[in-house]
Amino acid sequence: MQSEKILVINCGSSSIKYKVFLMPQEKTLASGLLEKIGDKKSHLKYLVEGKIFQTDISVKNHIEGLEVVSGYLKDKNLGIIKDVKEITGVGHRVVHGGEGFNSSVIITEKVLKKIEEYKNLAPLHNPHNLAGIIASSKLFPTSVQVAAFDTAFHTTIPPVAYLYGLPYNFYKDFSIRRYGFHGTSHRYVSRRAAGLMGRNKYQINAITCHLGNGCSITAVKSGHSVDTSMGFTPLEGLIMGTRSGDIDPGIIFYLAEKMNLDLKQLNNLLNKESGLLGLSGVSNDFRDISQEAAIGNKKAQFSIEIFCYRIKKYIGSYLAVLGKTDAIVFTAGIGENAPLVRKKSLENMENFGIILDDEKNNLSQPKEREISSDNSSIKVFIIPTDEELRIAYDTYQFVSKK
Ligand code: ADP
Repeated sequence: MQSEKILVINCGSSSIKYKVFLMPQEKTLASGLLEKIGDKKSHLKYLVEGKIFQTDISVKNHIEGLEVVSGYLKDKNLGIIKDVKEITGVGHRVVHGGEGFNSSVIITEKVLKKIEEYKNLAPLHNPHNLAGIIASSKLFPTSVQVAAFDTAFHTTIPPVAYLYGLPYNFYKDFSIRRYGFHGTSHRYVSRRAAGLMGRNKYQINAITCHLGNGCSITAVKSGHSVDTSMGFTPLEGLIMGTRSGDIDPGIIFYLAEKMNLDLKQLNNLLNKESGLLGLSGVSNDFRDISQEAAIGNKKAQFSIEIFCYRIKKYIGSYLAVLGKTDAIVFTAGIGENAPLVRKKSLENMENFGIILDDEKNNLSQPKEREISSDNSSIKVFIIPTDEELRIAYDTYQFVSKK
């Protein structure tokens, strides 16, 4: 089997996160983050062979940013390629694939047009993803360009779960429905859980909890997503680092009137100032909140309680949705590293067949492991996610077929 060098790119509004993999060995050759694109000084952090290099540099836009990145990839001392042709595939994280994409695809003119169309559904994400694709097509003209959509895994959600209680024509006319996000991660960890249970990917009913800066939870039936907590946008569902998750929509009207907030301010409030940050008043970072909680900060303690309560509530509802659940999976920064969150989210659920083994839950290694007790009828796993690697894998599949 031939090895391929695959570049994975995740473009945000002012950032480019990237990783180069050697596939199918799944080896990371280099990774980096270019931040503050468009500011006077942008910052590049570049990691190769465990060594970190940092530099401040002026970068106006994504194309310039990718030029800088490819320059470092080719650098004589740090570099990992001599020519851009060595990158045979570029995988792009694209947040919104609407109803049009149920898997990763090679980017053609038609695909580009569709991603462009979905800009209005994800105005904070798709335009930047698109900018990355256009820049990368210019800089890596011989590479296969692949789009991996956050929404793709959730296209199997049935109407009963994706329609909101709004006039039906809003779905038809404005495409308002639940789309769900973090699909690459939910797909991977649910399949991995099936593997750990000795089953094929369609032989599992699982509840997968992706708890990072953004948090979402998915009900997976026979290997397919059938419901998920994020909705039309990533704002719905669980409490997150800075996002509120579910709230009564009436609060928005109340605040608009009471505080005279306009749409932009409300958007900012719910997306950037709420969640764990808003509740704790400490930080959006779970580690900071845990530290404060440990030294007696009541708001920090309570924010963790509220965070876990919401997870538990969703787990309960998805147990009902699935009827029979084989596994619950925790993944991403908090899900993988915070035993307290796993414990609190599953507390007092013995009657549902969920019994955590405290000792296994509190271990830190191995990263991927079962943490339920032997008499738990529903298995509980920690499965580290790696969205970039999954995108690299999808890209490699296309490259290796060429
Ligand atoms: P992103 O959504 O940006 O990919 P991550 O999956 O990296 O996010 O998760 C970030 C969250 O994970 C942060 O709240 C961070 O505090 C938390 N986290 C990371 N490591 C730990 C740890 N060792 N213990 C508790 N929380 C952690």
